[in-house]
Amino acid sequence: MKTPKKEEKQATNIITTDSAPPNFIRNIIEEDLKTNKYEGRIVTRFPPEPNGYLHIGHAKSICVNFGFAAEYKGKCHLRFDDTNPAKEDVEYVESIMEDVRWLGFDWGEHLHYASDYFEQLFEYAVQLIRNGKAYVDSLSADEIREYRGTLTEPGRESPYRSRSVEENLDLFERMKAGEFEDGAHVLRAKIDMASPNMLMRDPTLYRIRKVSHHRTGGKWCIYPMYDFTHCLSDSIERITNSLCTLEFENNRPLYDWVLDELDVYHPRQTEFARLNLTYTVLSKRKLIELVTGGYVNGWNDPRMPTISGLRRRGYTPEAIRNFCERIGVAKRDSTVDMALLEYCLREDLNKRAPRVMAVLRPLRVVIENYPEDQTEMLEAVNNPEDPGMGKRKVPFSRILYIEQEDFMEAPPKKFFRLAPGREVRLRYAYFIRCTDVVKDEKTGELVELRCTYDPETRGGDAPDGRKVKATLHWVSETHALEAEVRLYDHLFDKPNPADEKECPDFKSCLNPKSLETLTSCRVEPSLKGAEPGKRYQFERSGYFCADPDSSDDKLVFNRTVTLRDTWAKIQKKAQNQKKKR
Ligand code: ATP
Ligand code: MG
Repeated sequence: MKTPKKEEKQATNIITTDSAPPNFIRNIIEEDLKTNKYEGRIVTRFPPEPNGYLHIGHAKSICVNFGFAAEYKGKCHLRFDDTNPAKEDVEYVESIMEDVRWLGFDWGEHLHYASDYFEQLFEYAVQLIRNGKAYVDSLSADEIREYRGTLTEPGRESPYRSRSVEENLDLFERMKAGEFEDGAHVLRAKIDMASPNMLMRDPTLYRIRKVSHHRTGGKWCIYPMYDFTHCLSDSIERITNSLCTLEFENNRPLYDWVLDELDVYHPRQTEFARLNLTYTVLSKRKLIELVTGGYVNGWNDPRMPTISGLRRRGYTPEAIRNFCERIGVAKRDSTVDMALLEYCLREDLNKRAPRVMAVLRPLRVVIENYPEDQTEMLEAVNNPEDPGMGKRKVPFSRILYIEQEDFMEAPPKKFFRLAPGREVRLRYAYFIRCTDVVKDEKTGELVELRCTYDPETRGGDAPDGRKVKATLHWVSETHALEAEVRLYDHLFDKPNPADEKECPDFKSCLNPKSLETLTSCRVEPSLKGAEPGKRYQFERSGYFCADPDSSDDKLVFNRTVTLRDTWAKIQKKAQNQKKKR
C-alpha cells in the first residue's frame, strides 16, 4: 500500500530554478577590478572557528569564497579563527579540512591559523596601549556588563579607563606573564562608552584564560578576542574581500576602528545572508547539543545537516555545490526549502547512480510453473539515462521476493499492482499472475503468494498483445543478499525549528520518526561487497548509499533521498499562486 503523502509545507521563500540566482557580491568584485582597487588581486578566505563540524550553511560560505577566488583566478585561504581554546579541538580542525576538500576546494599553501598571529596581535595591542587607545580594566565581568549600559541607555566609563600608558603596559605584560588569575583584568579598546553601537563601548580585546591551546600549548595565558583577531588576521593575510554573514554588520565599525587606529592594510568587508534551511537547525551551538545529548548518533549521523552527515547520507559534493549556486547570494535573510536541496541531489544522482533491484519489505512469491532447479540470468540496464553505464545480469528463479506494498488482497480502485487473479510484469523478467494466497493458520497473516509465469513474456511484452498495468521490482530468494536499510525523514517535524515561536525548545520539535531501520531487506547479488559511500538507485524506492557499518556478513544502506520530487510540486503551486495574483 502506498503511504499517504505528507502534507508539503510551503517554504517562507520560493526560489525558482528557472531564473538566474542573485549575486550582488559579483558586482562589487567586478567594480573593484575595474577601479584596480587591490591591484587586480582577489583574495578571499573561509574562516571557521574549530569548535564544531561544518554544516550546509558553511558550505554556502565555502562555495562563495572559494567560488569567487576560482572565478577571478584569485586565492582563497582556509583560516582557523582559533581564539577560544576552551571550546576548540584538533578533531574539529581535521574534520573541517576533510569537509572543505570533499566539497572540491583547495587552499593550496594558504592554510592559516589565527594562533600563528598571536605574537603579532600582542604587538598590535601594545601599540594601541602606547597610542592611548587601549587600557587594562580591572572591573569584574559582572561590573563590566553593568557599566556597559543598554540599547536605550549609554554606558559609564570604568574607573580604570584613565590609567597611564606606563601602568597599562606594565599590567598587560604581567597579564601575559601569568601573574593574575582568570578574570582579574582585561584589555579594552578605548572607544566610546556612549556609542549607540554596543560593540563600540570599549570592547574587550584580550582576556586571561589559563588553559592550554590545541596549537600553542601552554605558551599563552592571555588570548585575543575574536573581533580583534578576525579583522587583523584578514589584514595580515592581505585579504581583498572579507565576505561574512549579516550578523557581522554591527562589527564592521569596530573592525574599521582597529584597522584605522593601527594604520594597517584594510580589506573590504561585505556581508551576505546566512543560509537557513527548513526542517533543520544550522547553529553550531544547537548541533553540539544534539550530539552531546545523544539525540543523534554523532556529528555524521545521516540526519544531521553537517557536511559529514550529508556525505554519509549519500549526498554528492556536486549536488551541494549546485544547490549553493542556485540559492545565490543575497543581502536579505531567507529560508530555503529543504526540497530544493533534495531536488539538486536527485538531479545529480539520476545521472550517475546505477539502478539495482532491492526489496525493502519482502513478500515471498513462489512461481509454481517454473522449474525448481532452474536459474536464468536476465539482462538489466544499469542506467537508462546513460547507456554507457552498460548492462548486468540478474538471476531469476522459482522463488522470489517482491515488496509487501506491491500486493493487496482486496485492492481499492486505483491500486494497479498485484492482487489475486491479477497479472503484472516483473522488471526485466516475465509476466506473473497471482493464483493463490497462503496465510498462517493461527495468525491469519500473509505468508506467501503462489503465482504462475508466462514464458512467452521474457524481457518484454506478451505476444498476444495483452497488457499489464504495473511493473514490479523483485529479487531471487536463493541469490539475494541480506541487508539492513535505514530510512530517514526530516530531523525535525516543524518547518522552522529554530523559530522560538514555533519551537520554544528546538529539541521538542525533533521528529520521533526520523529514522526507521529495516533489518530483513533483500538486495540483488551484484551489490556484494558494495563499498561504503557507493550510491545506487534502488528501482522504485529511491537513492541509497552503502554505509560504513556494512560488513561482509551484512550490507547496510542509507536511504539518501526518495524518488518523489516535492520541489516540482512546490514550484508549481508557487507559479499558480503568482498567476492568481
Ligand atoms: P556560530 O553558529 O557558533 O556563530 P558559525 O556557524 O558562525 O558559528 P564559524 O566557524 O564562525 O561558525 O563560521 C565560519 C564561516 O561560515 C563564517 O564566515 C560564517 O559567517 C559562515 N557561516 C556560518 N553559518 C553560515 C550559514 N548558515 N550560512 C552561510 N554562511 C555561514
Ligand atoms: Mg561565527
